[in-house]
Amino acid sequence: MSGEFDFIAHVRTQQHIAGPVVLAAGDDLAILKLFELDATLVGIDQVLDGVHFDSSIHPPELIGRKAMNRNLSDIAAMAALPTAALVSLALPAGTTLDYAKRLYAGLKDAGNAFDCAIVGGDTGTWASASTGRLAVTVVILGRSAGVTPVRRSGARVDDHVYVTGPLGGSIAGRHLTFVPRIREARALATRYKITSMIDLSDGLSRDLAHLCIESGVGAVIDASLVPIHIDAVAMKGRSPIERALSDGEDYELCFTGEPGIAEAICVGRVIAGDGVWIETDGRREPMMAKAFEHAIG
Ligand SMILES: [Mg+2]
Repeated sequence: MSGEFDFIAHVRTQQHIAGPVVLAAGDDLAILKLFELDATLVGIDQVLDGVHFDSSIHPPELIGRKAMNRNLSDIAAMAALPTAALVSLALPAGTTLDYAKRLYAGLKDAGNAFDCAIVGGDTGTWASASTGRLAVTVVILGRSAGVTPVRRSGARVDDHVYVTGPLGGSIAGRHLTFVPRIREARALATRYKITSMIDLSDGLSRDLAHLCIESGVGAVIDASLVPIHIDAVAMKGRSPIERALSDGEDYELCFTGEPGIAEAICVGRVIAGDGVWIETDGRREPMMAKAFEHAIG
């Protein structure tokens, strides 16, 4: 991008000093005042043109929004609150200042929705149009803020398995416009005994398997209880239940905990042993097989 200094100057006008931020972009490093009694959580996530978005059809505001919100969804998955974020941009040759500003606006607005300031970052531009496409990398810092972080490893036999919303068909648009479930996670973890949690980026069948492996348990899901998003119902090709189990990028939360949590949707329960199973009309089969029925046969 020509005008990189103009972009950095623009970014600096977008920042303000508040909350944990003592010094934002402009010096060699930002300064944060972390909260003494809190655990600090940290993570990183990258979105790539052609993999997580398509810059030929998706506006830069939505690309920036998705990049930030994927990180905020990981904060939600541990029932934490965001503290601040850092952004690294790899821009294609010929990116205009206006495009970079719009991308940044998407990142910033998504962060602002959860009081998460962007306190620094780095921008690089590929040398020629043939070499590189847009990549947006976000480092996120979070804090426990009075709630013990919920890990993937705490699920216990006879816990119930819940999700926070309908699943499937996110490719119709929700993969760009979802809202991270930070408020929901905080409310749930404050009110109830939540034993494990993960955000649904790869689809219920894969993400619940991650959670079960970390916890050393199995799970059985009742197909009739899985909430299917209207987007998945409207789509051609694979069946709505297959989409709900495997499409991914729902960014709802999947968690285990005590029975009777009315604020979420119970879809099954934790069992001894290993493996994730789904029951359809009393017939039990491996959930991966159900999720990819057409792909395997
Ligand atoms: Mg995650």
